[in-house]
Amino acid sequence: MDNNQQLKECPYDKMHQVRPERFITHLVRCCRSHPTIQVCCPHNAAHIVSPGEMDEHLKGCDSKALSKYMMDQQVQQKPEEQPYFGKGENWDDDPDEGTYDPTSRCEQALIIRKPINLTWAQRKQFRLSERSRHEKLEKENEKEKKKVLSQN
Ligand SMILES: [Zn+2]
Ligand SMILES: [Zn+2]
Repeated sequence: MDNNQQLKECPYDKMHQVRPERFITHLVRCCRSHPTIQVCCPHNAAHIVSPGEMDEHLKGCDSKALSKYMMDQQVQQKPEEQPYFGKGENWDDDPDEGTYDPTSRCEQALIIRKPINLTWAQRKQFRLSERSRHEKLEKENEKEKKKVLSQN
């Protein structure tokens, strides 16, 4: 079986024989290591252009619209800020009993929550409460560990 038939030759370096499914990935990587020989189009890595011809290529690049569309999509998919810490919300208030509180799960976990849209004083208070929350969780974890150890 002659696998070489299926390999594509890298435009940057003839020594690079690349499998078709890896070709684009390889081009992007190889492009970075050979920026002076040829460059790939920012809209489509499969467009290999000499640096001097890039301006000309960009004018007629058929992937420009697609690339813009993808970028718009990425901007739209940016994660939303945590709504719970929204403007004017007093997060020191205890949540009503029985209502669904998306942060209650968060309270259980030993993670650092990020304060958003808080005043300086609120941020300070937040940090203090985070610290005591973590200390409490750590103590509880220690207790759990000891319990498990004594059971064995
Ligand atoms: Zn290459
Ligand atoms: Zn292009």
